[in-house]
Amino acid sequence: MKILVKYSSKHSKRNQFVIDVDPHQEISQLKKTIISLIGPVQVKINLITEICGVKILMSDNWPISFYHLEPNSKIEVKQLEFSCPSPTKRKLNRGSTYMESLGFENYLPITREYGPLEKAIDACKAGNLADLMRTVEVYESESPDDEDLLNQAQPCLWAPIHYACSYGHSAIISYLVGRRVNSNKVTIDEWTPLQLCCFQGHADCVEALMEHPNLQLDKMTKFRGTGLHLACERGHADIAKTLLEANACMSLEDPRGKTPIELAKDHEILTLLPVYLGECQLRKYQQESETPPPFCGEIWMTGSLFIHDRPVFLYMDLDKGALDRYTNKEDFLDKVEPECIINLSDVQDVRVIGGSKTQFFFSIETARNSYKYYTKHQDLTKEWVNRIKQGVSYCLVHRSKDSVLKKNTESIASEVAEDETVSSENPSVLVNDEVINFNSFTILDQIGSGSFGTVYKVQKRNGDQQEYAMKSLSKANLQRQKQLKYAISECRIMKQLKHPFIVTLYYAFQTTQYLYLILEYCPNGDLLGLLESNKIIEENIAKFYLAEVILALEYLHSLEIIYRDLKPANVLIDSSGHAKLADFGLAKENVSKDNPAMTMAGSPAYLPPEIVAKKGASKASDIYGIGPLLYELLTGAPPYYSQDIDVLFQSIKQARLSFPPHVSSTARDLITQVMNRDPAKRPQISQIKRHPFFRKLDWEALLARRIRLPRNGSFCEAMSPTDEF
Ligand code: ATP
Repeated sequence: MKILVKYSSKHSKRNQFVIDVDPHQEISQLKKTIISLIGPVQVKINLITEICGVKILMSDNWPISFYHLEPNSKIEVKQLEFSCPSPTKRKLNRGSTYMESLGFENYLPITREYGPLEKAIDACKAGNLADLMRTVEVYESESPDDEDLLNQAQPCLWAPIHYACSYGHSAIISYLVGRRVNSNKVTIDEWTPLQLCCFQGHADCVEALMEHPNLQLDKMTKFRGTGLHLACERGHADIAKTLLEANACMSLEDPRGKTPIELAKDHEILTLLPVYLGECQLRKYQQESETPPPFCGEIWMTGSLFIHDRPVFLYMDLDKGALDRYTNKEDFLDKVEPECIINLSDVQDVRVIGGSKTQFFFSIETARNSYKYYTKHQDLTKEWVNRIKQGVSYCLVHRSKDSVLKKNTESIASEVAEDETVSSENPSVLVNDEVINFNSFTILDQIGSGSFGTVYKVQKRNGDQQEYAMKSLSKANLQRQKQLKYAISECRIMKQLKHPFIVTLYYAFQTTQYLYLILEYCPNGDLLGLLESNKIIEENIAKFYLAEVILALEYLHSLEIIYRDLKPANVLIDSSGHAKLADFGLAKENVSKDNPAMTMAGSPAYLPPEIVAKKGASKASDIYGIGPLLYELLTGAPPYYSQDIDVLFQSIKQARLSFPPHVSSTARDLITQVMNRDPAKRPQISQIKRHPFFRKLDWEALLARRIRLPRNGSFCEAMSPTDEF
């Protein structure tokens, strides 16, 4: 197929040429060809075309056929001095044009891990249902607590369903619909799954998609009309008919102000539309006179970052087209500004998500957030879901009428969305009527920084003015490195823990950019710092800290949690000189023999052989971790240490353990036993507590924090829990 390529360069006047392209070729390949023709070769270019009146930045990883270019279509070449900004920077790029907001670069690093999401996407592209099902099955058995694979999306927000719709695989869509994936998700270049099917003309896929009870037939995006607009404009009469039979609205104007009938060119569609027009108008007038009544009530709000659920008051206001959340009913009655506003036309999915005998959950998903609520009655939860769904459909159809009102709501909504900062999950909201957020603390000092954020020493402004450690984690950073789920799980796990030798999590809240954990402040550093200043640690002192860590592990294992990251840097020293296990980013819940944690996670030098061999982690892996921890405290470096990771992993799997002469025989024996390469042969924690290395240690007194740090080579029992250190 021949296309016309237009370009301008600094050195020559406007140029154009015709090239012959293969429609199956990817845009990245087409770019290479064009660059070789216009040179110099190191130049970077963007290609722009026009679809349905909208200029589109062509994305690297799509075949040319995706853009439905006709013979002699024009492609404009834009030469770049710098590489294209990543979508996360798009907001800052004030000069960005219409079309730049519609394209996305395949900016993922080349070396990105070929994970389950990519596998699922490849299966969706290829239409290989068996492969997709297998990938889901493996993913669910390996990561039962993780987010549903099929609802995950790439950074450009394309999820498996978008690929299935774009490539036209109806059997895959039926499977995804059966799994109730979000069918209204919007990609970064503003496509919904239905728009993609309608644009590409996949009639069977539209039918498959319409089986989804939550499909929003009249959904438009920022730059595109509804599925019906696209089907009419592209001349897909069969799709237009299917949509009209399902009552798709015919009177809506797309972002260019056009109704479907104005866009239709095809004769069949032009004769089809008037048949439905009368019926559609009638329905619209009936609906207009019957605006659904407002719906409101007290409801519980929860989430993975919540330490305690909290009651809130929700009000669905269809005149405003919004779902307003108030801290409580009194605020609503006093007309206080809502703490959060969701535009109903931004809602992508509302669904019941199971529950217990007393809690019946439902979720509301928008492009930016997922909200989780519950009521205490099953019928009430169902009623909320139905009312919100009705409200969303109503607003999608009536949004043009309410556009002025909507604009107002949006501006408030975006302010409030930023102000999710002030929505807190702090239990004291209930007890002391106090909202905890970033402003509740004064930053006193920066303690340190980790891979994803910074830890500050802070002081609470009100109340007891206590000092805490505030760990701030950048969501963008976490997301980029696929670590967000670990941070959320860190919070979920920590909030259940209460143990004398584990750092307490007091509050957790989030802003649009950061997650904040307010933790117990440990002013005496960590064991790595102690090692750095002392080179090695005296055996009795190491024994004291290790014993406290063992009690912490015993507690975690009793809750079916494995820790997976035992190392000196993660053992903090509290104000009384006791050990406190910190950093639960890699901890994993519900791990049993039959359900090991499969991800290869941890710090390389401390990994047990079964994790190096990718056989999964269990409680026995934490037992192994006791060995390298004690070894490093006594010798100054972890066993088998090498800068070369291959040598290190080889040694972990095979090498003989050797000890410097000053390490006692009982310490050697304990380390050797816990580091047995066969997890089944490692001792249980109860056996470790009886090992000669811990002879004379009163574990009960230790748990009660009655033992203090040995000073003269022996343990002392303190007079009172505070008379220590
Ligand atoms: P990474 O996240 O890459 O594993 P890290 O564990 O050092 O690195 P953080 O957990 O973010 O990163 O900790 C950064 C610093 O803050 C460390 O020096 C740690 O000892 C200190 N720190 C963390 N939590 C607390 C706390 N509760 N009290 C006092 N200091 C803390």
